[in-house]
Amino acid sequence: MALNGTSHLLIRANPRYSAAYMPEYPDIVVYLEALEKRIMGRTLERVSIASPFLLRTAVPPISAVAARRVSDLRRLGKRICIGLEEDLWLVLHLMIAGRLHWKDRPAPARSSRAKLSQRDLAAFQFDNGTLSLTEAGTKRRASLHVVAGEAGLGNLDPGGLEIFAPSKEGLDCTDLKTFAAALQSENHTLKRALTDPRLFSGIGNAYSDEIFFAAQLSPIKLTQKLTDQEIERLYLATRATLTSWVERLRTESGDRFPEKVTAFRAGMAVHGRYRQPCPRCGAKIQRIRYATNETNYCPACQTGGKLLADRALSRILREDWPRTAEELG
Ligand SMILES: [Zn+2]
Repeated sequence: MALNGTSHLLIRANPRYSAAYMPEYPDIVVYLEALEKRIMGRTLERVSIASPFLLRTAVPPISAVAARRVSDLRRLGKRICIGLEEDLWLVLHLMIAGRLHWKDRPAPARSSRAKLSQRDLAAFQFDNGTLSLTEAGTKRRASLHVVAGEAGLGNLDPGGLEIFAPSKEGLDCTDLKTFAAALQSENHTLKRALTDPRLFSGIGNAYSDEIFFAAQLSPIKLTQKLTDQEIERLYLATRATLTSWVERLRTESGDRFPEKVTAFRAGMAVHGRYRQPCPRCGAKIQRIRYATNETNYCPACQTGGKLLADRALSRILREDWPRTAEELG
């Protein structure tokens, strides 16, 4: 099904289309937990950068982070922030194809650079192992910023609402009223609103599909047309979906460093399950394809049996749909 000429061409030109996936909240949380076990309190000895496109800042210089200890780890939207002594931060955005890898083995002591393998964009050598960054494909979108202090981090924060915030008891969930206010601050399709990093933090294409399914809502429904009950359903579904996927991914990676960061997970209800039976009602899962995104939904559970494929949908996709990797950032 070609929705218009552009999307048709893009899809045909890119056979790896379905593999495009930007790591989202559950993936980033699990990456951070794996990093905490390995590099918290450790010394970053050196950094090697292979691609001139990766490093997006000049001040502070990348050399300033060497020989400093890791004192903090944080998520900022879909970015991973490694805090070092003197309040310096390495901020990584994996975008679509960037992935992290960890090797326990320390590099030879006499080497003056962190060892880069051919596929590495960057290698961060710690006193107990090496964290490397790779990016599949030819597009260089992954980014590294070196920033100083809260002000530097603040400049990179898209500002979306955190669904969960750290508290004394662990994690506190944002309340329904705050969630509703963010959701309805602009009138957009649900798909666009929930994946807009200025409105919500860390939610992208895959987990938004799962959330809409859990809430039994259409991804094209407009946020300002939602009833109070629908907003509450969406709120509860967002909390439950993110919480349960963090737990699943945590269990799956166990003590290993998370290497299988992908959009398609066994156990997902709709995302990546086009034409497969809905786990709730058995109807065939449908899809909306646009540019580099695929949205999946169950027509029986979410859209009153309607297939979202008419002319009105083309207009919505043009005007009110997340379309580029940068917009999903
Ligand atoms: Zn269904």
